[in-house]
Amino acid sequence: MEQKLFVYNTLTRKKEEFIPLDAPHVGMYVCGPTVYSDVHLGNCRTFISFDLIFRYLLHLGYKVRYVRNITDAGHLEGDADEGEDKVSKKARLSQLEPMEIVQKYTVDFHEVMKTFNALPPSIEPTATGHIIEQIELVKAILEKGYAYEVDGSVYFDVEKYNETQDYGILNGRKLEDMLNNTRALGGQNEKHGKLDFALWIKAKPEHLMKWPSPWGVGFPGWHLECSAMSNKYLGHKFDIHGGGMDLMATHHTNEIAQNVASCGNSPANYWLHTNMLTVNGQKMSKSLGNSFLPAQLFEGNHELLKKGYSPMAVRFFFMQASYRSTVDFSNEALDAAEKFYKTLAEAAKKLNTLQQNTLVAVEDEAESAIIAACEDCYNGMNDNFNSPKTLEALNNLSKWINSFANATRNSGVVSAETFELMKKTYNDFFYDVLGLKQDDNESGDTAGLLGLIVNLRNQAKANKDYATSDKIREGLKQIGFQLNDNKQGTTDWIKI
Ligand SMILES: [Zn+2]
Repeated sequence: MEQKLFVYNTLTRKKEEFIPLDAPHVGMYVCGPTVYSDVHLGNCRTFISFDLIFRYLLHLGYKVRYVRNITDAGHLEGDADEGEDKVSKKARLSQLEPMEIVQKYTVDFHEVMKTFNALPPSIEPTATGHIIEQIELVKAILEKGYAYEVDGSVYFDVEKYNETQDYGILNGRKLEDMLNNTRALGGQNEKHGKLDFALWIKAKPEHLMKWPSPWGVGFPGWHLECSAMSNKYLGHKFDIHGGGMDLMATHHTNEIAQNVASCGNSPANYWLHTNMLTVNGQKMSKSLGNSFLPAQLFEGNHELLKKGYSPMAVRFFFMQASYRSTVDFSNEALDAAEKFYKTLAEAAKKLNTLQQNTLVAVEDEAESAIIAACEDCYNGMNDNFNSPKTLEALNNLSKWINSFANATRNSGVVSAETFELMKKTYNDFFYDVLGLKQDDNESGDTAGLLGLIVNLRNQAKANKDYATSDKIREGLKQIGFQLNDNKQGTTDWIKI
């Protein structure tokens, strides 16, 4: 962990050095999906961004506890105490149990995340699994005097809270501005103030998911679950809290208020927010007809898509922008990402069959260029997980790999140490940090195994043992791998 990592903190609105509370442990909480429909591509981008962050922290040697919740109750249609529960509504319309809806879309979500090669979080708690903790939290907030009960519902008193605390701390806004810019939302006849939000909501008789509480039968407000579950698994104070930028103004602002009101401190030191996904410059939305699902994107099954793109090409495409910038989908941008991804993936394959030639004469220029590119892989990620910078550094390394593999340059012009550094850095970043894999379903392990077999074959050829060399070539062909020979021996293979 000699690397100094800087992250952009929404809370302070500046880039700060990342210093964990209790290194090497890092606690990270990310707001997960509400599982009532197919996962939206914009959400995929958010979770892929946090996968990249999780992977880099692991690479740096941190022991990360990554908590990402599943919202399976309490998220109302209007996001702000109005409308029907999203899961319940889907259950009612489909004539299914709410838990059938939850099960279906949780499984789908996991499958999509796996397709994108995202690592599972360390803990994935659900709102319905933590009703007791949520009720306890409401009690604590009531005891501290920051909430009030009206006819079986409990509301957070924002104006009372703001007398001693700063409610708009996360987005840097004053309470007066927020009050002036808020329309009247659900439960206004019961709420004392326009910005007050529900901690516990009284359930109507027809409401499907409801639980007994000290205030009667009801269900938790949407913001409550994240405070309760982050408290439970990461403690009152932890390192990183993340989510989509759309969650910042209300959901995260209210989470901070709930935590401060109940236990006296803001939950996380660093707040990280991912930006939106647009399509041809417009917001992706069902009403504009420009919204497609991950599966449609892979198959090219939408009028706006001229062809399908592999999950790795899409993951790569997301990482071509910093997580804090918007990403704009277009066929041209996806084509370019696919091409760039293939270039780097091919170099990764060649690298694992590449061996350093006997040292001829170390060229300072080659030596320093490779070392600088390796350092730039880290420099990119250390600069607020700036993946485009890291991809550019890998691109520079791929040019060296290609020149060595194609024997247009002798690999003996760099020292064994630098050659190994190049191999390790490229593999570490391509497979482990960026979470990429070979599109032809070959994992890093398979690529490594093939590299080993190819090296054995090269040795057999060098020993003039052509019978073994041919046997290996034929054997690989039978299981679907074609070797490409060149002047330097075999450094390349393709799946046939
Ligand atoms: Zn949340």
